Amino acid sequence: MRLQDLSAALEELQGQHRLRCRTVLASPQGVEVEIDGQHYLSFASNDYLGLADHPALVRALREGADRWGAGSGASHLLTGHSLAHQQAEEALARFVGREAALLFGSGYAANLAVITSLVGRGDAVFADKLNHASLNDGCLLSRADFQRFRHNDVEHLAQLLADSKAPTKLIAVDAVYSMDGDQAPLPALLELAERFDAWLYVDDAHGFGVLGDGRGSAAAHGLRSERLIYMATLGKAAGLAGAFVAGSQPLMDWLVNKARTYIFTTAQPPALAAAVETSLRLIAEGGERRERLRQLAALCRQRLEGSPYAGDSTTPIQPFLVGSDERTVRLAAMLRDRGYWVPAIRPPTVPENGGRLRISLSANHELSQLDALLDVMLQLAED
Ligand SMILES: *Cc1c(COP(=O)(O)O)cnc(C)c1O
Repeated sequence: MRLQDLSAALEELQGQHRLRCRTVLASPQGVEVEIDGQHYLSFASNDYLGLADHPALVRALREGADRWGAGSGASHLLTGHSLAHQQAEEALARFVGREAALLFGSGYAANLAVITSLVGRGDAVFADKLNHASLNDGCLLSRADFQRFRHNDVEHLAQLLADSKAPTKLIAVDAVYSMDGDQAPLPALLELAERFDAWLYVDDAHGFGVLGDGRGSAAAHGLRSERLIYMATLGKAAGLAGAFVAGSQPLMDWLVNKARTYIFTTAQPPALAAAVETSLRLIAEGGERRERLRQLAALCRQRLEGSPYAGDSTTPIQPFLVGSDERTVRLAAMLRDRGYWVPAIRPPTVPENGGRLRISLSANHELSQLDALLDVMLQLAED
């Protein structure tokens, strides 16, 4: 893209209803947000448990800053790794029942780290077709043979694994698919990993804090295996920012030595790490919040059942399938006019003609608020 072509290319995106732009929030994250002086009921954030603005978590962050200062000042391998980071890693490992954990600045960085550190040229990665973009980028960057299997199709994956002669194999999946809300068949995937001597890398960005009593998707299935590498982000249900990888100690030692997105980046502010234990406590005590999420998801399913808009999700990600980009964008705009903020998701984030409104549920939503939203959505979609 040359300098002189940028404006025309942006206009072309606009013409295709594919121009993306940011909205500026003038309030903390929550179910009620302020944008451009207007108040909206938001179904757009990944703050599933409503912790991003929880007073106890805000206090923990503030106290963390008082104790540890503002910045970490260096990468983990220089002098950026504080006792706050160390203790957060130990707490995270304990929480998800693994030997060790490693903190990352973001889930994106964690995904690049794990995949590029374990597979390279001549190896093979096996990725679900609907995997998150950051997993795909990790696969591409690794230079390993990048094979994609049909969404949640264990037979297809088994076939690809059986045909592969790669010395190191890694299966990478989202535990909860970020645009559909459905879940990966983790026990069957782990069985294949055992059978074909492969790693199973699980990105639980949307399951951590929500599934398995908050301990995530692997815990929900009681899966224990050193070849299962667990990754979760701290910026979604955990209400903070960053991510962690959990698994065996030798794996963490390997990542510390090899992962370029760990080595060549500044450690997160220690205050964030210091707040992790409070986030974990709130997650552990969040049974009622998770029950509310289940009720909201059940209501959504029930209201959309049998309609052409229904997806197949029992998680807080509930897609309202629309189709064309134009119609998706138009519906989102009409919802905004009525005080609802529900994001329009278009290709390339989803397949062509897979446009949808992505309803993200929060434990702070009232059932009546969701019910009212669905009334409006169904009515607008029928017109
Ligand atoms: C959000 C997300 C990521 C990226 O995590 P960040 O911490 O936001 O960088 C990775 N994988 C999935 C499935 C996600 O939804």
